[in-house]
Amino acid sequence: METGQPLLDLDGVDQGLVEKMAFDALVWSSLHGLVVGDRTAQRSGKVPGVGMMHAPFALLPTSFPESQFNMACEVAPIFNELVDRVSLDGKFLQDSLSRTKKVDAFTARLLDIHSKMLEINKKEDIRLGLHRSDYMLDEQTKMLLQIELNTISSSFPGLGSLVTELHRSLLIHYGEQLRLDSKNIPHNPAVSQFAEALAKAWTEYNNPKAVVMVVVQSEERNMYDQHWLSFVLKERHDVTTIRKTLAEIDTEGELLHDGTLLVGGQPVAVVYFRAGYTPIDYPSESEWRARLLMEQSSAVKCPSISYHLAGTKKIQQELAKPNVLERFLDNQEKISKIRKCFAGLWSLDDSEIISQAIERPELYVMKPQREGGGNNIYGEDVRETLLRLQKEETAEDAAYILMQRIFPNGSLTFLMRDGICHKDNAISELGIYGAYLRNKETVIMNEQCGYLMRTKVSSSNEGGVAAGFAVLDSVYLT
Ligand code: ADP
Ligand code: MG
Ligand code: MG
Repeated sequence: METGQPLLDLDGVDQGLVEKMAFDALVWSSLHGLVVGDRTAQRSGKVPGVGMMHAPFALLPTSFPESQFNMACEVAPIFNELVDRVSLDGKFLQDSLSRTKKVDAFTARLLDIHSKMLEINKKEDIRLGLHRSDYMLDEQTKMLLQIELNTISSSFPGLGSLVTELHRSLLIHYGEQLRLDSKNIPHNPAVSQFAEALAKAWTEYNNPKAVVMVVVQSEERNMYDQHWLSFVLKERHDVTTIRKTLAEIDTEGELLHDGTLLVGGQPVAVVYFRAGYTPIDYPSESEWRARLLMEQSSAVKCPSISYHLAGTKKIQQELAKPNVLERFLDNQEKISKIRKCFAGLWSLDDSEIISQAIERPELYVMKPQREGGGNNIYGEDVRETLLRLQKEETAEDAAYILMQRIFPNGSLTFLMRDGICHKDNAISELGIYGAYLRNKETVIMNEQCGYLMRTKVSSSNEGGVAAGFAVLDSVYLT
């Protein structure tokens, strides 16, 4: 069965059965912490335990071809290795982003921190990457194509693992009636393996008094996803986490002569960023000072500034150019495996592709150097923006890349949001988590660790779970 084909004929499913499953799923979510802050409750983004509601989820898992799923898992360690190699090539990062730097103030600030680290010859011996590589299955070509690779704040390892558990539980109880087997849902150890990677990084840092610091936004409705990681870290690895905003780190942080980062007097072994990926997180100089302070320290940064930059869309596009992967990987088999996942990617100085995109804008997506959803340009807006950039002849074009638009198969899905079950046509995006840890020449961990399926109504360009278009989902292998 192809992806997008419904697991079962939803029109044929007994309405009473759907209602029973939806009820059970809502209860399960509430009892197991598959929750987010309720945006209508005032303190829900600040105080845990206040104003919680179930996270949006798909009632049933989405079918996905096993061979393509396995392929996505197989390339995860190669992407981990690639990010590490790219991060070590400071000149490649600076050169590739040099034109972008002139027109994009946010990228420029990140590059400035990176330059400062190059100047002082800062070495990161312990390097930790917690990535998520996202894919869509292109309906026409049947190819699994990478949307992007996230190297900062890869979200939902916690809630994603839980949705898998929820779907297993539903299929254990209702699978016979639905003629679905819970065994076809792959295990999803994202949260335990991310926690393990953080714990191992903490161990490498080798200061038993030190903590893991989660860098957070001052209001965070997705806090339970983060708390899941902290909880597993504490329960299973006896590692303590603290949560600090960039502003707090600026006020409370200090650097000792030996490079130790103290925040509120506590030594920090690992800085885990769940903020700092968007300009909104840096409303003043204070936040940038905090970012620089952490970068200068000896704490393990997840990600370091070079890992962060290696995950930008511009670098994704540069890596897709001929003979660039060869600079970073020496194994031909690995190179061809990951190249197969690359969609068409272009910089805007390619006039031929610009003309084509102006002619057929629906076949392209225009992307700025931003993270967190809601930033891309689609359809008629692609044409308008390209025409404007042509006319103005500014350097602003360097802020964007162009990407082939991927068209996955749509199918009817039950989407659960705000306690209500909606049936809608939906498409899915598969994310594969990867963890990488090394200390100098020793690779301690290089693994694929679980997955995240996100399903969104087909009529929405971007989706976004937090934005309210997408739901968390899991995979039913076919
Ligand atoms: P972000 O870093 O903001 O998440 P993405 O590159 O993942 O940026 O784009 C956001 C969303 O836009 C994706 O989750 C996907 O739904 C949609 N999207 C991005 N690139 C493409 C593409 N090439 N084809 C179709 N949809 C895309
Ligand atoms: Mg992203
Ligand atoms: Mg994305």
